[in-house]
Amino acid sequence: VVVNIPGEVPYDVRIGDAVLEGLGTSLKRLPAVADAPHLLILTDTNVAPLYLDAAKASLKIAGFRVSDVVVPAGEEAKSVAVAGEVWNAMAALGLTRDCAVVALGGGVVGDLAGFVASTYMRGIPFVQVPTTLLAMVDSSVGGKTGVNLEAGKNLVGTFKQPAYVAACTTTLATLDEREWACGCAEIAKAAVIDSDEFFFWMMDHAEAMVARADAVVAEAIARSVVFKANVVAADKTESRGVRECLNYGHTLGHAVEALAGFGTFSHGAAVAEGMRFAARLGADVVGTPPELVEAQGELLDGLGLPSLAWSAPAEEMLAAMKRDKKTRGGQVRFVMPRDIGAWELVGVDDAVILEHLRAWEA
Ligand code: NAD
Ligand code: ZN
Repeated sequence: VVVNIPGEVPYDVRIGDAVLEGLGTSLKRLPAVADAPHLLILTDTNVAPLYLDAAKASLKIAGFRVSDVVVPAGEEAKSVAVAGEVWNAMAALGLTRDCAVVALGGGVVGDLAGFVASTYMRGIPFVQVPTTLLAMVDSSVGGKTGVNLEAGKNLVGTFKQPAYVAACTTTLATLDEREWACGCAEIAKAAVIDSDEFFFWMMDHAEAMVARADAVVAEAIARSVVFKANVVAADKTESRGVRECLNYGHTLGHAVEALAGFGTFSHGAAVAEGMRFAARLGADVVGTPPELVEAQGELLDGLGLPSLAWSAPAEEMLAAMKRDKKTRGGQVRFVMPRDIGAWELVGVDDAVILEHLRAWEA
């Protein structure tokens, strides 16, 4: 898939089962990186023992000089402190402006690597090698980078497009079911927002997706990347309201994650619940057809994302959603599907939200 964003150098997202092996060759063909005197691979403690050697070998055979920095696995690595350690490591290695960063890992490594690459010496190229399904379908494309603050997630960051994205589906073999379902939730989100075509294709291939059938996984990733690339092309810096659709399911989802305690449910399980909720709310507010609510439920069930056997008091949920950074004028705004392939972002009155939250609670 080619990602073509106005004002940016177009970049390839290569999806397939030998993409990691071919990484060095691909980068040698990439003008922004081909002559880099030194590449820095940023990865985490889970991914390093699995794929760092393969990545290094491929780059070295192609003639690159390669170093690596391994950060602790988990969201905590997306911090100013860890970014500082990486900047210092880059300086200690003597990286110059013509060097490049290679992010080998999930969304955490990708967001952190993009952030340090976009700020070190005012910006050096970076390449994404996503190794989680979520990172392949969502975070590696679109150019949002960043780190978390104590006050909240992603509060410091930049927009920086990668020079290349290498989605090697072979690396997904070691991903556990929880992380798999996380990626599936973002794919389902994309399908509902995108089109009948994508949605019903997913319905037909949900079982194969759970079984991780190679061809189906690769196609689901490609379809999701095309969707995300189109959204980003229309709204590169999240200033035109188009990119808001990527938050479908995330308003309630983030509140579920926060109130249940981060890590209790996977991000994907929370987002799936949020999609169910937003569609039911949509039936009231924007005329979402009941068939959509039902079909979406079926798709999520089919992808191993069942309804949560958990809820929190309606008032607490509402308060948590109001802390969302997308709240405007005290009204919580939801992305709701008016239909498959058609969405609206609408501020909803507290009374209506509470009524739905109480029904959900029950
Ligand atoms: P993650 O990077 O924490 O990866 C999940 C877990 O899987 C980690 O423990 C990781 O070490 C492990 N892992 C990674 N690849 C593996 C593999 N192939 N085999 C076995 N284990 C592997 O989390 P994630 O879900 O990939 O990404 C979540 C992050 O992405 C969040 O910080 C979120 O804010 C960010 N995000 C960013 C964007 C964006 O547009 N930039 C979009 C969505 C999400
Ligand atoms: Zn998400």
